Amino acid sequence: MSRIPVTLIPGDGVGPECIQSAKKIIEATGAPIDWEEAHAGASVFKQGIPSGVPEATLNSIKKTRVVLKGPLETPVGFGEKSANVTLRKLFETFGNIRPIREFSGVPTPYSDRNLDLVVVRENVEDLYAGIEHMQTPSVAQCLKLISQKGCEKIVRLAFEFAKSEGRKKVHCATKANIMKLTEGLLKSTFETIAKEYPEIESNHIIVDNCAHQLVKKPEQFEVIVTTNMNGDILSDLTSALVGGLGFAPSANLGNDVAIFEAVHGSAPKYAGKDNINPTAVILSGVLMLRHLKMFKEADLIENSILYTYGEGAVRTRDVMSDANQISTSAFTETVIAHLGKAPKGQQGRVRQPLKMPAKIEAIATVQPKARQVVGVDVFLESADVPQLVGDTLTSLAKDTPLKLKMISNRGTKVYPATGAMTDLIDHHRCRFISATGDEVTDEGIALLLKNIATKYRWCQTEKLQEFDGKPSFTKAQGED
Ligand code: NAP
Repeated sequence: MSRIPVTLIPGDGVGPECIQSAKKIIEATGAPIDWEEAHAGASVFKQGIPSGVPEATLNSIKKTRVVLKGPLETPVGFGEKSANVTLRKLFETFGNIRPIREFSGVPTPYSDRNLDLVVVRENVEDLYAGIEHMQTPSVAQCLKLISQKGCEKIVRLAFEFAKSEGRKKVHCATKANIMKLTEGLLKSTFETIAKEYPEIESNHIIVDNCAHQLVKKPEQFEVIVTTNMNGDILSDLTSALVGGLGFAPSANLGNDVAIFEAVHGSAPKYAGKDNINPTAVILSGVLMLRHLKMFKEADLIENSILYTYGEGAVRTRDVMSDANQISTSAFTETVIAHLGKAPKGQQGRVRQPLKMPAKIEAIATVQPKARQVVGVDVFLESADVPQLVGDTLTSLAKDTPLKLKMISNRGTKVYPATGAMTDLIDHHRCRFISATGDEVTDEGIALLLKNIATKYRWCQTEKLQEFDGKPSFTKAQGED
């Protein structure tokens, strides 16, 4: 096999110790990898590079297309964004595969239940689109951006991943009952694409119940596909089922680049103490070897880890403080010494190479047969009571083609009054609809805004549209 170049990012905090451990073990298998060391994270932010990722690192990744990385700190007060999120977005690693499995010898409340499941987390959209605004001095907004293309890609990846590992069931976890359009888009896309995989059982589950079921009966799950924020939280939960963050690896997969890293962060309080658990980073290396089709080397390491925890009965501080506790470096040497040993009882899976969903270069677009602008939501800042705001806006809209339908405050309709006990803030969403039933034009909206601006400070507008006769917006609590 020809040698494969891989970008190696040691990272911050405990990163270098964990990466050193994984690198040593991978090298001990004879895997033909040439490491190209590159840097990102805290030290780079301190050099004044606001992305936390220097050009040299980007160039290395563009060349190797495969990265094994340690955790990167997001320093408070430096840099604008997380360097991790920057890397995921720059290289469009849209899917984050986060598997967990039980290790015999690592006692947990779930021991002997043979847990073996995967969270497939959408990795670039959702609240992580990073579009946030202070709309008023006291009201913050974060845009939850979910696209149909993004949903299709992550759902296909989840089913393809299930197929590659011979898994029989995929759950889709969403909050579609509340966020009908955003989380609902993942749910409906999942239900459509599931039909292409009739051999795999598909179920939708509401994400809060998913968290509850994961604690109560986790063995019912094989693959859970979910949105970015939900996946972030659920995967920390699933790591705790098998012993904690020290055991949770991940693969950030895109069509061009793959980045392998632990779920955990830089755990600064343990940095340099030689007592951190390197298993999550080692197992991220195992995922990387499988991605590179080095299945033999991957299985060697996975079996050695299973053997080390089971028969070998040694572990790092986080698992148990007893006579079998060893340091990070001693754990690494033990895993190397156990390469070639087979764990009793715990069998590996028969795996096929993962077929990534095809890359669609075209800009994603959905063309409805008909679309119509039926109104506009105007968000404005005012300390006036809703009755006064409503009456004023009604009069300000008089010479425009729009009329005020309602005002909501923190999502609840407050004008016309409903009797709701809303704790008011100075941020009102004012819904205007066509006064005549005709389509609302940009000129009509501009005239309305001009009139509103004579009395109020508006901060955002959102067109109310219908696609193929269906409203593309939700109603406020209490709105007819
Ligand atoms: P963290 O670094 O994951 O650490 C949280 C806790 O998890 C630790 O205090 C420790 O628990 C446990 N832990 C983490 N890694 C472990 C390991 N390998 N072995 C054993 N236990 C482990 O989370 P954080 O303290 O919230 O974040 C620290 C920094 O990391 C932040 O700057 C954050 O932005 C960054 N971060 C980076 C990534 C990434 O690079 N992908 C991910 C998450 C966070 P105990 O205290 O109970 O021992």
